[in-house]
Amino acid sequence: MLGLMQQQSLLISSLIEFAEQNHGDSEVVSRRVEGDIHRYTWADVARRSRQVANALDGQKLPQGARVATLAWNGYRHLELYFGVSGSGRVLHTMNPRLHPDQLTWIANHAEDQVLCFDMSFLPLVQAVHAKCTTIQHYVAMCHADALPADTGIPNLVSYEAWIGQQADTYAWPELDENTAGSLCYTSGTTGNPKGALYSHRSTLLHAYAVALPDSMCISARDAILPVVPMFHVNAWGIPYSAAMTGAKLVFPGPALDGKSVYELIEAEGVTFAAGVPTVWQMLLGHMKPAGLKFSKLNRTVIGGSACPPAMIDAFRQDYNVDVLHAWGMTELSPLGTVCTLKNKNLSQPADVQMKLRLKQGRGIFGIAMKIVDENGKALPHDGKAAGDLLVKGPWVIASYYKQEGGDPLVDGWFPTGDVATIDADGFMQITDRSKDVIKSGGEWISSIDVENIAMGHPAVAMAACIGMRHPKWDERPIVCVVKKPGAELSRDELIAFYEGKTAKWQIPDDVVFVDAIPLGGTGKMLKTRLREQLANYVLPGL
Ligand code: AMP
Repeated sequence: MLGLMQQQSLLISSLIEFAEQNHGDSEVVSRRVEGDIHRYTWADVARRSRQVANALDGQKLPQGARVATLAWNGYRHLELYFGVSGSGRVLHTMNPRLHPDQLTWIANHAEDQVLCFDMSFLPLVQAVHAKCTTIQHYVAMCHADALPADTGIPNLVSYEAWIGQQADTYAWPELDENTAGSLCYTSGTTGNPKGALYSHRSTLLHAYAVALPDSMCISARDAILPVVPMFHVNAWGIPYSAAMTGAKLVFPGPALDGKSVYELIEAEGVTFAAGVPTVWQMLLGHMKPAGLKFSKLNRTVIGGSACPPAMIDAFRQDYNVDVLHAWGMTELSPLGTVCTLKNKNLSQPADVQMKLRLKQGRGIFGIAMKIVDENGKALPHDGKAAGDLLVKGPWVIASYYKQEGGDPLVDGWFPTGDVATIDADGFMQITDRSKDVIKSGGEWISSIDVENIAMGHPAVAMAACIGMRHPKWDERPIVCVVKKPGAELSRDELIAFYEGKTAKWQIPDDVVFVDAIPLGGTGKMLKTRLREQLANYVLPGL
């Protein structure tokens, strides 16, 4: 017997309609690229998203067309979130921190047709546009008078001119809820970056999950500062959950230093902020010496990398701010777990609670987790056995965009590349990473790319890149090199060789010359052994 309830698609447009109708006066505040503060409401976001949709219709952009962005967190970016996806196109948020060659590759792979960019990325777009073969329209996210006369970029309009002439009425299409809504590439896998293509349905279900009380606990009484970029897995889904609840949104633009973030938190009465540990390191580093306090901030979600214990202590003890340690991935939209304590934990001693808070947290409803040994056999959830972490759920990818890399699933489960324990209460803790990538300041560095560049140097016989712990960046890459017999090569020469071949922050911090790189039976580099050999190694400058 079937239920007799209405069949209604879960659509991104319904979020902005809801926010307009129920929280039309709730504010959206942005620090702009220009440095000033822009302030308007969810009703304005809704109105201008409809103008975006009309502008895309006017350009005869078909359903499913990819509209890319290169932009900081700000109100125009938010309008694109709803206008592009709501009208049936796919919002492709690109990471401007990538090397121009990587960006070009990604834009061509996605077959983007429109690129909307913040003016701070004008030089980047000028450098890459000739190689982006599918982009037909460029939109600079500024007023017409802020656009220089001759940029060399074809079909370039300002955002305000682009939407300014458009009607602010629009009938959002009744899409199938499985229609693609947004696309985000991850460099956290081996080989080329791969796209995670989210649907309206997965985005809506994820938005509910993000807002749940034992998740980020988002409500209409919150003022949320997503420091996590809107080009990192849709700012962890916060823009959608904020629309779903009518929370005030505060966007930091490009100013992510401790002082700017602190001032925005205080000026806008921010109650909840989200970001990677590096951002909070900068914020606490600014506040501590000046003896500053928060007046309204009551919790922060920290994820993307493991949250150091000292940070949890500082937020909780010095500032009375709760820390929600969270884990997720681009492939998971991204939220998988959040560390909130259970009732029974609250009466436990402080050291026991601290041990729990350091875990990545409990799976939110919708995410199933298991850990397996090297033969795929399920391991017990006893908090001790560590194994490969696999997940499944309605906002976990079934396949990468264009089926890149083949079927990623193992018996319907997605292997995360993380190694973890799960305890009897469901608290998951990452203990290691099986994927060969390095995460620095919340951004990926491919060890294979670092090795390939080194191998391109005529004096290098073999190279192995490994990540080393760093107090600010979490991890930094170093490259271990075996020189060719008789070849001369210094550390500085090899570091200089990387210049221009990869983004600056992806260049290894150091070169360690070794006689041999340990290899396994199949010829694979044994990086765990290499790491053991370098147990006493200290990164330069630490
Ligand atoms: P991304 O796809 O860029 O969001 O990166 C996802 C990966 O970042 C995960 O598979 C983990 O390796 C790592 N990660 C995310 N959150 C955490 C966390 N709280 N602790 C440790 N590693 C994390």
